[in-house]
Amino acid sequence: MKAQKSKLKAQSSKVQPPTSNLQPPISNFALEVQRRSGENVFRCYYCQKCTIGCPTAYAMDYQPAQVLKMIQLGMREPLLKSSAPWLCVGCDACGTRCPNEIRLAPVMDTLKYMALEAGYSLPEAKVYALHRSFVNSIKIFGRLHEATMLAEYKLRSRDLFSDLDLGALLFLKGKIPILPERVKDMGQVKELYRMAGQ
Ligand code: SF4
Ligand code: SF4
Repeated sequence: MKAQKSKLKAQSSKVQPPTSNLQPPISNFALEVQRRSGENVFRCYYCQKCTIGCPTAYAMDYQPAQVLKMIQLGMREPLLKSSAPWLCVGCDACGTRCPNEIRLAPVMDTLKYMALEAGYSLPEAKVYALHRSFVNSIKIFGRLHEATMLAEYKLRSRDLFSDLDLGALLFLKGKIPILPERVKDMGQVKELYRMAGQ
């Protein structure tokens, strides 16, 4: 009996702890998104309040709550190819609704930068064209000049002829000034762009 007990004890000491775990492993992708966005993506428990309040969720391929879940699961490639970050307008409605104070806007911006860095073709190329045209106009004049921004957007998007009637109407009503105005202290604007690496 004593020998049998010691044999069982010896066998039980060889039993390994279970290797499977119900918690998925923490992905490097999630850690990187968290570091770059400054938002704790691991706090999300998928209540979907962000999705319900998001004004553009209806047009996204993955809705805001799904984006958070996919980040936690390390689904890098589908997210960086996704239209969701490009359709986020940065309104912060999600951030004000989230019980865990997660703001999607910086998370979506981070995904945009990562998609550009990775060289993926952009699912919403016109959104990026508009963004670049807007940022370039501010860089030149210190404030938005609609005429040059629209001209650059048309060239970048290769969409020269759509909405010309609307543009003409706005021009005739004096909503699109021909000559740009420049802010007085362009040095500060240039410094901001330099700090942003642009
Ligand atoms: S509201 Fe916050 S916790 Fe809820 S799904 Fe959205 S990000 Fe996650
Ligand atoms: S910041 Fe982006 S994700 Fe959040 S509610 Fe606004 S559009 Fe939706």
